[in-house]
Amino acid sequence: MIKAIRGTRDLLPPDTALWNFVEKTVREVFGAYNFQEIRTPIFEATELFARGVGEETDIVSKEMFTWEDRGRAQSEKNQLLTLRPENTAGVVRAYIEHNLQQRGLNKLYYIGPQFRRERPQKGRYRQFYQIGAEVIGPASAGSESPARDAEVLELLATLLDRLGIRDWSLRLNSVGCANDRAAYNEALRKALEPVVSEMCEDCQRRAVTNPLRVFDCKVPEDQPIIEKLPRISQFLDEGCRKHFEQVQAILKSVGVPFTLDDRLVRGLDYYTRTAFEFTHGALGAQNAILGGGRYDGLSESLGGPSAPGIGFAIGEDRLVLALQESAEAVLRTPDVYIAPLGAGMDREAARLARELRHHDLVVELGDENFRLKKSFETASKVGVRYVLIVGENEVKSGSYALKNLETGEQVSVPRAELAGKIQAK
Ligand code: AMP
Repeated sequence: MIKAIRGTRDLLPPDTALWNFVEKTVREVFGAYNFQEIRTPIFEATELFARGVGEETDIVSKEMFTWEDRGRAQSEKNQLLTLRPENTAGVVRAYIEHNLQQRGLNKLYYIGPQFRRERPQKGRYRQFYQIGAEVIGPASAGSESPARDAEVLELLATLLDRLGIRDWSLRLNSVGCANDRAAYNEALRKALEPVVSEMCEDCQRRAVTNPLRVFDCKVPEDQPIIEKLPRISQFLDEGCRKHFEQVQAILKSVGVPFTLDDRLVRGLDYYTRTAFEFTHGALGAQNAILGGGRYDGLSESLGGPSAPGIGFAIGEDRLVLALQESAEAVLRTPDVYIAPLGAGMDREAARLARELRHHDLVVELGDENFRLKKSFETASKVGVRYVLIVGENEVKSGSYALKNLETGEQVSVPRAELAGKIQAK
């Protein structure tokens, strides 16, 4: 038997109804904040992620699905391509390529699969789905303002509430800007020097190449050492500190609760200033449902114009996992099962089904070859409340037998009143 590759999976009904519910709600909420959808390719040049996300990040150094694509003509060079491990780099590439700066402030969102070669476990897949948004544009359009950060965070709080996700918490940090980072990296290097030989191999490498990445370390023995390292919060310059204070002030004013966490540096290199994560109690170890932050230098590092921005990515798989308990509420079971009774009745039943579906009813249609007993059994499996019998007598009289499976009551209803009666419940 050929099975789905480990780390990938099929999404089956009834779960898909939950995915659709999430995506519908997300589109509505994004719409209310005037975000518009962008769709970028699923694979891009490897270099985009190496430069955008950062060579030293776990994602780029060990998790990308990369292959060498043969040039079509002999003169063409082979090109390294990668399945996108995240979508911000692709959006910023598109921003540069299509000169979106001319539009001023861009508020874009995406929904789609991402790919990382991670060790599969609950809540962690090799093909997973992200819902994300980016606010990006020239600084003159207000893209740098702390008001944008706060608006994005408030949007997320609204979205989680609307989805019915309770007990989320927001952790917030500022990772500073290039200036702060240079001084901070220096301090980190110094602090790491005497202790790094006691740390894991990854940390020993990070200490040399990109010391900030030490904070990504999950090795339990390293944690006491990491706890004692200097924090970025002590190195923020005046501008970054004020920016961060302003974000917090707006959040307080709109009533979005948060906690400060100066260990939060996020796993991607492009972040500057505001960085954040929303976690959810029910998800255990993989409890981050979404993360994001500001990336004021990303466009330039990809060869584009200055374009400050802020964005986030929600792990849709984890969001759905968190929602699973309330799955019942969003499932729409059919309203009525139509049971054609006897030869020639499939035709009549199909006409009636078409009529009722025009009234926005969900109709399951049976088969004239089924005996009535089998029709009823099928109907209760489907979970409908009503069974509508279409036999020769009904067609002749224009009045149909409608049985309520919950109460057992059966009534005869004129054709014109059927939709109303079924809808009334
Ligand atoms: P990141 O792009 O790493 O900032 O991740 C943003 C969100 O995507 C995380 O908070 C997770 O919810 C989700 N996520 C990241 N990696 C995976 C994965 N391998 N499987 C499922 N969800 C993931």
